[in-house]
Order: sequence, then C-alpha cells, then structure tokens
Amino acid sequence: MHRFALLLVSCGVASAFQNAAPSDVLTAADLARSIRETGLDATECYRVRDLRFFKDDIKLYLNDGYLIFSKPIAGQRLAALFTTDVEGGDGEVIVIPPTRTERQSLAGFTRSPNLDEHFRAALMIFTDGSMARLRQSLAEEESVKKAPEIGALLAPQWTPVVANISTPMQMRLVADLWSARPAETGLAFFAVSGKTLGNFDILADARAGHRIVVRQQIVRQQIERNGHDAFNLWTDFFPRPSAGAKPAIAPARREPEFTVSHYHIDAEVGNDLAVKAITRLTLRTGPDPLRVLPFEIARTMEVSAVRIDGAPAELMRDESRRGRITPYGEEVEFLVVASATLAPGSEHHIEFEHKGDVIASRGEGVYFVNARGSWYPHVAGQFATYDLSFRYPKRLTLLAAGVPVEDRVDGEWRLTRHAVTVAVGAAGFNLGVYEKVTGTAAGVNFEVYANRNLEESKRPQFSEPPLDADLGVPNRVRPPHAAESMPTLAPSPAPLSRLRMVANDVAASLEFFSGLFGPPLMKTLTVAPIPGNFGQGFAGLVYLSTNAYLDPVSRPANPRNPRERQFFYDLMVPHEVAHQWWGSIISPDRAEDEWLLEALANYSSLLWLEKKKGLKEMETVLDGYRSELLSKNAEGVEYESAGPIVWGQRLEGWPASGAWQAITYGKGTWILHMLRRRMGDEAFFKLLAELRRRYEFKSVTTAAFQALAREMRPKALSAEAIDTFFESWVYSTGVPLLKLRYTVTGVAPAVKLSGAVEQSAAGDDFSLDTPVEVQFPKGPPQTIWVRTTDDERSFAAALRQLPLRVVIPDDVLMRK
Ligand SMILES: [Zn+2]
Repeated sequence: MHRFALLLVSCGVASAFQNAAPSDVLTAADLARSIRETGLDATECYRVRDLRFFKDDIKLYLNDGYLIFSKPIAGQRLAALFTTDVEGGDGEVIVIPPTRTERQSLAGFTRSPNLDEHFRAALMIFTDGSMARLRQSLAEEESVKKAPEIGALLAPQWTPVVANISTPMQMRLVADLWSARPAETGLAFFAVSGKTLGNFDILADARAGHRIVVRQQIVRQQIERNGHDAFNLWTDFFPRPSAGAKPAIAPARREPEFTVSHYHIDAEVGNDLAVKAITRLTLRTGPDPLRVLPFEIARTMEVSAVRIDGAPAELMRDESRRGRITPYGEEVEFLVVASATLAPGSEHHIEFEHKGDVIASRGEGVYFVNARGSWYPHVAGQFATYDLSFRYPKRLTLLAAGVPVEDRVDGEWRLTRHAVTVAVGAAGFNLGVYEKVTGTAAGVNFEVYANRNLEESKRPQFSEPPLDADLGVPNRVRPPHAAESMPTLAPSPAPLSRLRMVANDVAASLEFFSGLFGPPLMKTLTVAPIPGNFGQGFAGLVYLSTNAYLDPVSRPANPRNPRERQFFYDLMVPHEVAHQWWGSIISPDRAEDEWLLEALANYSSLLWLEKKKGLKEMETVLDGYRSELLSKNAEGVEYESAGPIVWGQRLEGWPASGAWQAITYGKGTWILHMLRRRMGDEAFFKLLAELRRRYEFKSVTTAAFQALAREMRPKALSAEAIDTFFESWVYSTGVPLLKLRYTVTGVAPAVKLSGAVEQSAAGDDFSLDTPVEVQFPKGPPQTIWVRTTDDERSFAAALRQLPLRVVIPDDVLMRK
C-alpha cells in the first residue's frame, strides 16, 4: 500500500468497498431520481496508465487515459468512465468466447472469432462488487495520479452520456442496490465505443447465471419492433469456471429471493372484453432480508396499485432491455418495493389491482386471449396453487384449468370459480361460444370444446399452420413468421365436424402418455380452441389452434417442409397433450432449456403417431424435418447451421433468421430419436419415465438431462458416448454426410465383415457414433457403432451368418 490508498480512504470512498445497506427511508423513486441525476465526480478523476481490470472472461486494459467515477448513490459509486482522449491514449477490451459455436457467432458479426477491440471510451456500471475491485487496483497502481482539473472538464462533458445510458437501466439498478447479495444479483455493464466496431455493450449478469453477453444495439429497428430496444447478439456464454477449464454449462440456480405458493385471482371481463382483476398472492421470503420483489406481467396489463400485508407499496416499471440479458418477450418485469425490509423466511400477502385489454374478438363469438399465462402478476418458473374467479357476460362460456367450484348466472353476468389444487406453473383462461364433448381417459375427466362459428380469418382463407406450440411457461415472443397467412383453395367446413375426432385423439394420447410417463399432473383437462396457428399446453388447460378442428383439404404446402401439412392434424393434439407432462409437470430451467420440453412434447407426439400409424409414418415426418433443416434461407444459409439448439430465441436472429422453429422442433425431435437409438428402447423409455419422476414440480436443465441419460444408459454404453452425443448434437451444429463401404468374406458360421464409414460436411470437431446396421435373412439386425470425426474409420465384425444388407439406417440425421 502507498500514499494513494490512504488518500482514497480519507476521501470517504471506503463505503463503496462494501454494499452499504441504503436507508429504508429512501423510496425507489428517490433512488431512481438519483440514478438519473447524479453525475460524474470531478474530484474523482485519475490519470491512468497500464491498469488492468478483469471480470470473468472480460479483460479490460486501461492503457493510457483518464478514469472518472460517478458521485455515490446510497453510499455506492455505480459508474466509471474511461476516456482515451489524450495524446497516444488507448484502451483495449478482450473477450474470448469459450466454445467454437460462440466464436463462430462473434466472427459472424465482427469478422474475428475473438473480440479484441481498441476503444475511445468505455462506460462501466457495476452493481456486483466490481467497483470495489476496480478502485482497489487503482489504489495499488503506482503510476496513477489524481487529476481533478481534468475531472472538472470531463464531468460536464460526459455526465449526460452517463445519464442516457443509466436511466433506462434504473429499475435494474434500484433492484441491485437493495440486494442483500450483490455478487449473486449484480451486473457488470460496459458500454464501449470501439475504434473499428462502433458502439457495443458487454454485460456480465449474475442474475442470469453470470452469463456474459456482447451485443450491439440496432438503432434502425427500434421503431419496427414497437419502439423496444433491439440488439444483435454477438456472443452469449457462461464463463469458464477457471482459466483453461472447459466452458461451464449453465451453473445451478441460486435459491429464489422469494417463493409464491398461492394465487387468488378475482377477474371481471366487461362487455367490452376489458379485464379488470385483483390478484392476491401468498409468498415467503428466502434466506435474505428483502425490500424489492421483481414480478412479471403482460405488456398489455397495467398494474395500478399494490399492497403488502394491507399497506401500500411502491411500483416501478420500465421496459428497456439495456440493463438485462433476457430476451424481449410479451411480458415486462416490474418491481414491488416494500416500504420497509421484509424479514428472511417470513410470509406475506400481496394484493395487486390490474387491468388491461388481453382479449380480442375474432368475430362471431370467437375470442383470442392474449397473454395466456401472463395476464396476472406472477413469478416465472415457480409452481403454485390457484383460486380463479371470473365474472363475465352470460352469453359466453369461460374455460380455465382446475375443478369448477362455482358456476352461476347473476342477472346479465355469469360467475365461474375454479380451484387448481395441484401446484402449476401458470393459469390461463379462454372464453367463447362453444360446443363440447366430454370423456374420461387415464383417470382424467376431460372436456373438449370447439367454437360454434369459424373465426373470420378462417372463412375466406385460412393460414398455413406451422407445427408450433408453446410451453406452459409462456414468456417468449413467438417468431413473427409463425403468423404468416396464405390463401387456401377450398372453403373449410365448420369446426364442429372434427370435434369428436379431436376428443378421440385427446383420450387416446392421454392413455398412451400415461402408460409411458406415469399419470398426468391433474385429474381434469380442458381442451379449447384458440384462433391462430399455434397451440399451447398449460397444466389442465390446452389451447388448440382452430386449424386442428378443420379438415386438411387442399391446403397450401409449407415449401420448406412439404410433408408437414398432412401430419399437422395428427401431431398437434398429442403434442399439446404431451405438454401435460413436458412443460407442466416439469418446466425448463432457463431459456436455453426450453428446446428440451418442446422436443419431448413433439417426440411424444411422434411416438403416438408411430403407435397409431406405424414407423414409416413417423419416419416420413422426420424426413420432412431433415429437409427443412437442410434447406437454405434467403441468404443461402442452411437453417440447421444457425446455431446449436440451446441457443433458443437467438436462432431467430441473423444470419439464419427463422431457424428457431426448424431447430427447436425438427432437430429437437431428431435428437431424441437418435438418443433412443443410441441408448436402446428399454433404457430410453426408462430415462423418460425417470425424468418425469425425478423432476416433478421442478425445472430441468439440458445438463441435468444429459447427466440423467448418462445415469440411465445401458451397461454396454460408455458415459463418454453420451457426452459425445450431446456435444455434437445439442451443443454444436452440423449434419454429416456419411458414406459406407464394406466387404464380406468367408462362409457361415465364420463370416467376416469389414468396411469403413467416411464422415464429411459437419466440421472437423463433429464426432459421431455412426450405427452400421447388419441385416440378416433371419433374426434381428445387429448394430456396429463406428466413431467418426470428419474422416474415414474402418470397422470389422465376425458374423455367424451371411448378411442380407449392411446399411447406415434411416434414424441418423445425415445428408441424403
Ligand atoms: Zn409445444
């Protein structure tokens, strides 16, 4: 230590080294105002040379320039600005993504697999304790000199820039400033003005599992996307746990700050279809004292008041994405700020008043409920019980999950109350003028509804439905192409004609999945139509696209997957019913795990198809997915190559825009089909049953699924083979071209088979266990697994009889 460190302490900066708890007297609005108005501190400006600052995989070199800090807010300095605006000034930032696909992604935007950029200026905003480290290294660097006279010039010049960048992040900053564990909830944010790449942001977000994101704001699209920020995501990864280590898959989630166990919602649907509701919920705080409680709600819903244990609390809402990593969805986050800190482990009752337009009319008694799982304030990813009461015009029927406990008419109004006594992830509702068919299957009392009339858009024409369905955690925006419509040739019959067929499929698939995965979550299931081209499966409530009620006559084909349409009607019902298991009993942990639940639901629907119509039909669907994955977008890029399946919504972005659906559903289904082949039917179906058993009412990660597959693998299969499978198919891209040649010598029972498999077109680190199937005139075929890696691998086997054929079977996702 030297003189300089003493100087810092004497300036009263010591409090910034800890997360000093701000006074409870401050309101969130006070804090937000401070964030907007607190400028740079001219007295805290330093001439800096060769100062290094590392945050996980982000390496910042402040080579030559001035570093100036913001004034403290609630005892903390949140921002620091480094400018290289001096003779020979220089700063440099280096980020090296840990995986090949992330380096490819970065190179796609910056022409280099590693980010190494010299910059003019960098604004840093820290709520994760990084500021203390930065100031510590400043204190320890001999060459640093204080420069208040330069500070006096820089502060007025840069203060508006700091305000412009931090103001949209104020809600996040408020939440972080009041966090009891900054290292687990905080953000390290760098707004960099690069010399060659222009302005870009780097974020390391502890709330998002310490993910690191490098992204660039797209200014021109701000208006196109409803005024919301849009970004090109250059790279997004979990940091290496230590230098040289293999990149981490998503780390375990930390304990939630609070848990909601029950929702009681009183909703009123007016004649104008506007929804007005009071949502009361019961929650328990986690291990830390808590002042700020983040909730989510549909963008179209407005929360007007909130009370905690009867006392008014503060509300804070903003819609900027600048301070958060999670993708923009149909929901917005908002904060409830208690007037005093809530004690750890205590129970509280929160009451919200909210209203909004979440129901749209599609004509003739057909309604579209927007924001199906997010129309009330909620916490995503948690399971809770529900008590749902609705008051609505009596001409309508309202459908919700759970057991009806009250249903009566009161003048012009109808009152319906439902109890959901099993904990579920979300509770939606639907309303309309319906016909219904009821039944019982697998111990479930189900009701299947159809609209009496056809929605307007389906009459003169109706839309081509991509097989699109959503999880019970409906917080993502569906890609825009999912709603494209095309004219059709023949007018379609009324939706009632297929009602009984749909009900039969519901019953049969409930029975089939119960046999495979164990009994469903709830003893009731309501299946209701929704206008549009998608379905959605919540616990106890399934939405089916009205297309599922229409006859598949003379429909235009999906040019990317011409076989898709004939199977749409076979697959949609079982797909959504399968979400009673995948997505309702088990939820995805993070966005990168959503594919797994979608793939499980979709593969379940294919298993049902296999049972109902045979293996050939199933293979035809898989073939369609293959063609779609290998087809090219307008820019000549194969959809499959857009990125690994764990990228989720990133697959909608450049360069292979529109790849999300092909990869999530098509490749996801292929992955499970190939895993089944690799593990064998017995082990694979045990894996699915065990997945349901072990993760009931929990969320599952891709890594946990991989670990379970390792655990459930047959004895003859190595754990390494499972890992290789996931590495190539789940965490990488590539569809190989496989060529087989072989010779057979000798006579029975001493036949010798020798040959080789040549792999190409999938990249040199794509490893695959290729099945080589030896078929005999009598008896079952024998499979030889050949590990290939962009090369030719030979194999040999001793056979007891002459083979009829030796082939690479159809259940490998390969080029044909
Ligand atoms: Zn789905």
